[in-house]
Order: sequence, then C-alpha cells, then structure tokens
Amino acid sequence: MTETKIVVITGASSGMGEATAKLLAKDGARLVLGARREERLKILKSEVEKLGGQAVYGMTDVTDVAQVEALAQLAMQTFGRIDVWINSAGIMPQSPLADKRIADWDNMIDINIKGTLYGIGAALPYMNQKQAGQIINVSSVAGHIAHQNSAVYSATKFAVQAISESLRQEMAAAQNNVRVTVVAPGAVNTELLSSVTDPQVKAGMAQFYDSFAISADRVALTIKQAINLPADTAWNEVIIRPTNQIS
Ligand code: NDP
Repeated sequence: MTETKIVVITGASSGMGEATAKLLAKDGARLVLGARREERLKILKSEVEKLGGQAVYGMTDVTDVAQVEALAQLAMQTFGRIDVWINSAGIMPQSPLADKRIADWDNMIDINIKGTLYGIGAALPYMNQKQAGQIINVSSVAGHIAHQNSAVYSATKFAVQAISESLRQEMAAAQNNVRVTVVAPGAVNTELLSSVTDPQVKAGMAQFYDSFAISADRVALTIKQAINLPADTAWNEVIIRPTNQIS
C-alpha cells in the first residue's frame, strides 16, 4: 500500500510527477522529489506535508548521472530504502526533421532516454539488495505510434518501451521481485507543451490539447493503482488516453 512506501519521483516539480506526489501524500507516503527547479520542489514538499505525507527533495538534472545517484542516496539516507522509483522527467520539443533542431534532439535523447536509464541504474542496486521494488517509467502513446514531427520524441519513448521490457525480463530472470511498469499516456494537461520550440508545431499541439487533454490526476491515479497491486502482480504497461483521443 502506498502509505508504507518510499517513492522517488523524477520530474516531480510539475505535471504528472507533481500530481502523483500529491496523491500519494494523501496516503501518508514518504516521497523523495527530484527536478531542477528548487522553488517548485520546496513548495511541493510543504504541500505534501500538509496533505499528510513526508518529503525531501534534491535538485536533480537527470542528464547528470551523479545527480541522479545523489537522489537515490538521499532516499537511502533519509528513509533507508527505495520501494518505488518513478521516471517521469521528460520533454517533448517536436518539430519536422528537416528543421534540424539538433539541440532539441540532443536534449530529448539525454533527458527522456539517458535520464530514464540513470534512474534505473541508481535504484536497482538498492532494490536488488532488498529483493523487492518497482520501477515505473513514463512513456507515451508516442512510444507505440510515430507521427510527422514526432520522430525524435517517439524514438525516445520507443526506447523507454524497449528498455522497460528488457528490464522486466532481467528482473524476472533474477527472481528478485522487482516490478516494472510502463505508463503510456495520451494527451495530459501539464506544462509539457512549454518545451516545444517550434511555434507552428506548438500552436497545432495546443489546439489538440485544448480539445482533448485530461488532468494529470488521472495518470497519478493509475500510478497509485499500479503501486497498490499485490507484490506478486505487476501491471507491465498501462496506456491511458482521453476517451475521445483517436491516436
Ligand atoms: P511537465 O512539463 O509538466 O513535467 C516535466 C517534468 O520533467 C518537470 O518536473 C521538469 O522539471 C522535469 N524535467 C525536465 N527536464 C529535466 C531534467 N533535465 N532533469 C530533471 N527533470 C527534468 O510534463 P509532464 O508531466 O506531462 O511530463 C511527464 C512525462 O510524461 C514526460 O516523460 C512526458 O514525456 C510524458 N508524457 C506526457 C504527456 C502529456 O500529454 N503531457 C503524454 C505522454 C507522455 P524541471 O524543469 O524543474 O527540471
């Protein structure tokens, strides 16, 4: 049950990470919050405490492996174990390939793929030691379907799917009781569109999001349910879309 869990969340300063922290806080969960914006983390920590949870935070850029390792160490020093590690940090600066927005390509690869890998790498030794744990990776429906303008973003989310499935098989082969869950949302109302640098693409996406996007609370609820399943049972992937979103 979430009230007894120690949960590390990357990308905790907004969107789904923040919503998940607040929902789990209501159950009294103990949270370790990571992101780059310290002010947001500070506010979230006090909100979590008002809601009945406990929280510490560490300013964490997931592209820096040392900072991600430090977040895991913060969890161990404060709470003594890591039950759940949620890789929610991500950006989505979509654009046509011909525009060669190479900085955006590099950032998506570094944050969405390498950040997820660093999170897994930081959490696994402690979960292996404990012979228990859960890694939750936030992918996307874009991890199943590529569209025009989404080449690199989709590639990073396809990568998250592949990494998660390999991890699942490795954990099962090791018989170490570590659950692997992919949460793959459709359009969700968060700050994600602020990472889009192409004004035309951003305007088109904003229109789509205005029509369809659901609240980040819905994803938080899904994550909570995935955590609360019996320890011998794992949701390996949940695709969660707005009911009227076509693809
Ligand atoms: P938000 O923009 O609201 O949240 C993104 C989070 O990632 C922020 O907390 C941000 O914190 C963090 N982040 C970005 N870059 C870094 C970095 N270098 N190091 C550490 N943290 C970083 O968007 P969402 O909540 O929507 O995004 C969460 C995840 O959901 C992402 O992986 C996204 O790809 C995925 N997703 C989102 C969908 C949507 O429609 N919203 C749909 C499908 C998937 P800070 O800037 O403080 O570091």
